[in-house]
This record gives sequence, structure tokens and C-alpha cells, in this order.
Amino acid sequence: MAVKTKIGRRAALLGGGAVIGGLLTKSFSSSNPTLDGTRSIKPIGTSGTLNDASELSETRIFRHIILKDDPGEQLIASIRAELDEARANNRPVNVGAARHSMGGQAIPRDGHAITFENGLVEPDSVNQLMRVHAGARWSDVIATADPIGLGPRVMQSNNDFGIAATFCVNAHGWPVKEGPMGSSVRSFDMILPDGTFATCSRTENPDLFGMTMGGYGLTGIITQMDVDLAQNQRLEPTFEEMPTEIFGDKFIEALADKTVTMAYGRLNVQRASFMSDALLITYRPSTDQSDLPAASGSGAAAKVASRIYRAQLGNERMKWLRWWFEADLATKLASGPVTRNNLINEPVVTLDDRNPDRTDILHEYFISPDRFAEFAMLCRTVITGSYQEFLNVTLRFVDTDSASWLGYATTSRIAAVMSFSQELTARSEADMRRMTQELIDGVISIGGTYYLPYRPHARQDQFTRAYPRASEFAAAKRAMDPDLLLRNNLWDSYFEAL
Ligand SMILES: Cc1cc2nc3c(=O)[nH]c(=O)nc-3n(C[C@H](O)[C@H](O)[C@H](O)COP(=O)(O)OP(=O)(O)OC[C@H]3O[C@@H](n4cnc5c(N)ncnc54)[C@H](O)[C@@H]3O)c2cc1C
Repeated sequence: MAVKTKIGRRAALLGGGAVIGGLLTKSFSSSNPTLDGTRSIKPIGTSGTLNDASELSETRIFRHIILKDDPGEQLIASIRAELDEARANNRPVNVGAARHSMGGQAIPRDGHAITFENGLVEPDSVNQLMRVHAGARWSDVIATADPIGLGPRVMQSNNDFGIAATFCVNAHGWPVKEGPMGSSVRSFDMILPDGTFATCSRTENPDLFGMTMGGYGLTGIITQMDVDLAQNQRLEPTFEEMPTEIFGDKFIEALADKTVTMAYGRLNVQRASFMSDALLITYRPSTDQSDLPAASGSGAAAKVASRIYRAQLGNERMKWLRWWFEADLATKLASGPVTRNNLINEPVVTLDDRNPDRTDILHEYFISPDRFAEFAMLCRTVITGSYQEFLNVTLRFVDTDSASWLGYATTSRIAAVMSFSQELTARSEADMRRMTQELIDGVISIGGTYYLPYRPHARQDQFTRAYPRASEFAAAKRAMDPDLLLRNNLWDSYFEAL
């Protein structure tokens, strides 16, 4: 017993020493960057406010209503009632879906926020199209279309987003050779700011169609849409690593092969060799198209990839490891077939950062393929010269879109979707704004443009240079909505001044 006590004391002393040592080491070890003394911009979560995926858009609203009705008289009556009350009280109205935009594009300041909750999808397999509730998500579409061998024709690379919302930002994804999602929309029904019901297509109200495609909900409230579907297929991937300088040419060359139906690229993100290596992944239909497996959610591989992705934060060796994993190991391990629907049936949450001190912020730039090498050079100078943690860039092809008034692909473009992990501090926000403006200046100087659903950091002159029809859009909007009833932070930040 006595011996035991002695050992116990020694163990206690050693253990205590270890704990104290550990605490001292923790207290005195460096923490770089430290958040001590910085000004936090974390959201407060005050009731009566609405935020979006950026966590940086907390905005006071008058009220938020959820409408669950199918498209029809009841839904239309509820929308008209909301518009009437808002007009009578001089308040704005705006509809949102997943609110994954990042600059209040789906939030009406002091106004009436509306969200649709209804996943109604009615597929027409003979004509490969669907009639869909404006508020349905891509996950609803895949769940309905997959069992009958169909899937979305054009959508983002994640499945959480709303269908009308996707049209209103005119999003793009991996399918090739496709234009933005608006190119797959045949028609839609909408309630205009004065309460009028309108059906829009390329032949019926064509101006309204072009303004609403990529028009951020400023022209009307869409209730239902007719949108193309595509054949689901079993696909085989091909991986090709190359220097970034030749990526633009190689991407276009690969797309000349009509059998390629999905494609994307990646660049390495270690700072020392930032964006110098590229990986092109193309998918062609397998010879065997029998017994396609049902579209599943994210598998174990996606979860492991997500852990590696997060471990890149502040860790250059991990960035190298991820590149090796993606460009080398994964090309050997994961080269088996996959269905088209499975590739895009991925929720955003898979990559969630779960870090209360940081937020994920996306940027996106659209560059002509023959200027892509210049774009990579620009990023090498501007991004590595910033304070921001850069985690990923995915490259897509977007074909020419001449229909949308606020189009970003007036000629075919490579879209560079870039993901940053941003500290939730004022200093980081200031650095992000400065860096974004520098990138946009550089992108515009090589004939490119930037995407509007993200942070409202562009200067006013950059907005009008990148979107030359913005003034025409604002004038047409004022003519159809003189009370400016349909408004959000995109209008307040940029159109208001035009
Ligand atoms: C993790 C992540 C990945 C992304 N990947 C891609 C990608 O691969 N490709 C790409 O192009 N974009 C991508 N984006 C951007 C994304 O497409 C947009 O942010 C899109 O708006 C998200 O859809 P949402 O349902 O969240 O839209 P919301 O933010 O809710 O709304 C977007 C706009 O649509 C309007 N709107 C919504 N519903 C209606 C309606 N019924 N009537 C009228 N207007 C309406 C809103 O007012 C708002 O202006 C990504 C964003 C995130 C956060």
C-alpha cells in the first residue's frame, strides 16, 4: 500500500509536471496569426436578421416568410399579398432559396424575405424536361429524375441550390459543352413587381427572359420553370497533368472530342509553386450503360478528401500532399466508372469548415481560354501577395451566352472557381477587399469578368466595366418597378447608383 502511494506520488508529480509543462508550452508557443486584439466581424445572430453562406451578410429584415404551396392560385395570392403590404409600407421584397450567395443577394434590407419550401419536380421523360417548383433544389431533381434515367442538364457542382436561384445567378458546372444554366431553361412563370402574372421564354416576353437570367431576383418572383433534363450515363474519367501555361489550349482541344460530356480542371495551390501545375479531368460514356446504380450521397472517399482539404489551412506540406493525392494517387485509385448524377449529387456540407473563427469565401473569374496563362500569372502575384488562405481552384468551361443581359460569358470562357478560408476579422475583410479589387482589375485588363453572387467587394467602376449592360438593366428595372419593390444588397450596392 505504502509503495503504491509512493509510486502514486511520483506519478502525480510527473503527471503534474507534464500538465504544467504542457500548459506552459501551449501558453508560450507561437500562434501565428493570433486573433488577440483583432476586431471580430463574427455574426451576432440577432433575431430579426438574415445572413447567408458568407456569415458576413447579417442584415435586419422586416419579416421572413416560408411559402410551401405548389405553384398555383394559392401561391400567387400569397406572393401578391406580400408585395401589396410591402409596397404600402415602402419596404423591399426578395425571394431566396438556399441563400448560398455571399453578399446579401437574397436579402432585402428591412424588408420582406420570402423562401419557398416545395420540392415539386414533374419530369417529362419523352421530351427530356421537367416542370419544377421555383424553390425546388437540385437534390429534389436528382431524386426524381435519377430513377427514370435522367438528371440535370446544367447545374452547379453541389446539389443544395434552388432551381430558380440557379437561373437568377445563371450558374454553370461540369457538363460540357454547355452554356450557363439559363441555356437549359425553356420557360418560366413569374409574378412581376406590380402583381401581374407573366410567362417568359425566348419567344414570349424575351426581354424579361434575358433580364431575369442572371438578374438576381430583381425583375420578378419566379413560381415555376420548364427546364431541360439530360440522360444519366455511366462515365469513365481520364486524368491529364500538365503545366498551367498550356491548360487553356488543352481544355479546348479536349472539348473538341464530342464524346467528352463532363470536364473540369484543378491547379496546385502550394504558395512556392502556386498554380504552376494543372490537372484536366474529362469524362466519356462507358461502353456499358446497363443497370446504372442509384445516385448516392457523398461516399467515404469524399469525406476523406474533405479532411485533407481542411488540413491544408496554414499548412504548405498538406497542400503539396493534397496535390499529390489528387494528381497522382487518386488518378490511379479512383479511375473507375461513375454515373453523371453521382458526380453532381454532392451537398455543400461535405466541405464545411466547422471553424467558428473563419469562413469560406468563393471568388470566380471568367477568362477566355487563350488568356488563361496570363490569368494564372496574375493570381500568382496577387493572391500569394495577400494575407488570405487559398484552398482550392476548380476550372470549368462555359459556352457563349448572348441571352442574359448581365452575362459573364459573351464569348466562351474558362470559369475559375476559387475558395478561400477567411479569418472573421476586420483586418482580413479589408485585405480580402483589396485583393479582390486587384484581381478584378487584372482580370478586366485581359478581357475577363467576375461573378456576382459572391462578396460585394468590387468597386462601382469595376462592376460597370465587367457588366456593360448594367445601366440598361437598371433603367429597364426602374421602368417596370418604379417603387423598387424587388431589392436586395446587389441592387443597393451597385445598381442603385446607376
Ligand atoms: C459551396 C458553393 C459552391 C458553389 N458552386 C458553384 C458552381 O459550381 N457554379 C456556379 O455557377 N456557382 C456556384 N456557386 C454559387 C451559387 O451558384 C450561387 O450562390 C447560387 O445563388 C446559390 O443558390 P441558392 O439557392 O443559394 O441561391 P440564393 O442565394 O438563395 O439566391 C440567389 C439569387 O436568386 C434569386 N432568387 C432565388 N429564388 C428566386 C425566385 N423564386 N424568383 C426570383 N429570384 C429568385 C435571389 O433573389 C438571389 O438574388 C457556389 C456557391 C457555394 C456557396
